[in-house]
Amino acid sequence: MPSIEQRVAAAAEAALGRDKSVSPLDVFGGLGWVTANHEDRWRQGRDAYLLPLEALRPGKLAGVLDALRRWAESRGFQPSETAYVSATRDRRPLRFLAAAGEDVECALRTHWISPDLTETQRERVVERQNRPPDLLVIMPLKDWTCTDCGVEGGDLLVMEDAGPLCLTCADLDHLVLLPAGDATLTRRAKKASGLSAVVVQWNRSRKRYQRRGILVEDGALEQAEASCLADEEVRRRQRERGRERRARQDAELTSRMVAEIAGCSPAARSHAPKRSPRTPRCGGAAASGGARRDERSTRLRSRPRSSPRCGTRTRPTTSC
Ligand SMILES: [Zn+2]
Repeated sequence: MPSIEQRVAAAAEAALGRDKSVSPLDVFGGLGWVTANHEDRWRQGRDAYLLPLEALRPGKLAGVLDALRRWAESRGFQPSETAYVSATRDRRPLRFLAAAGEDVECALRTHWISPDLTETQRERVVERQNRPPDLLVIMPLKDWTCTDCGVEGGDLLVMEDAGPLCLTCADLDHLVLLPAGDATLTRRAKKASGLSAVVVQWNRSRKRYQRRGILVEDGALEQAEASCLADEEVRRRQRERGRERRARQDAELTSRMVAEIAGCSPAARSHAPKRSPRTPRCGGAAASGGARRDERSTRLRSRPRSSPRCGTRTRPTTSC
């Protein structure tokens, strides 16, 4: 059984691969203490505290925080206290625990940043981590009634402490919905919009919220659409060049793997994957069949990992 030091180190290393920084929340996720769903509810302001931490034995949390600090300091990581605010309209500061002292809350808010980053990169990471989260608008699955004006139904709502609000009562009814599916259009519309909100919907099978689009100002959407149309050809060529580059990298990787396997001892070669009975036996065709399989597996492995806190996967619905 690995010690807590080893488990914390493993969770921290895994988090480091994604973001060049490590937070206590990353480690809790790696230890299986806090799920993305717990974190979503807390960040959305629906739970006052991070509930799984409340259930821990006294001393266990402190032990993990100490282990993380020792791991980070031994590698020269720099601490950065990070703001945690809710995705609600009041942007209230989030507390991890109901009755913890400020020193514990401060340790829980402290992110450890890799010394490998340049000063500019470090500033960018700190700025990104301190940026307030997007406002959250929910696409409901059930009937609902606005707790302010009493209007029933509606496609979208904002969840407040007192209950759901319609977009008119939440002062968001001047925004328009841009469905998820076009990352460039979404990014540009959001950047141009003075106010925006992320629209999510509960996915019953996955048991978590999934992103359905964003609400942005009408003018911002028009500006983003015009911008996308203007450089559509340029972006198409960039995508083509990217595809070609990845295909070249896949082919190079395949060649290296084939050469390495060919250079292995007969005993090692006997452990190499066996050829499928349906694969043609002639040399060129067999090699190309293997290459295709290797390319497919390489592409699957090389997909970027997303950290869909609050569900960041999108469903294609529009294109610019
Ligand atoms: Zn209302």
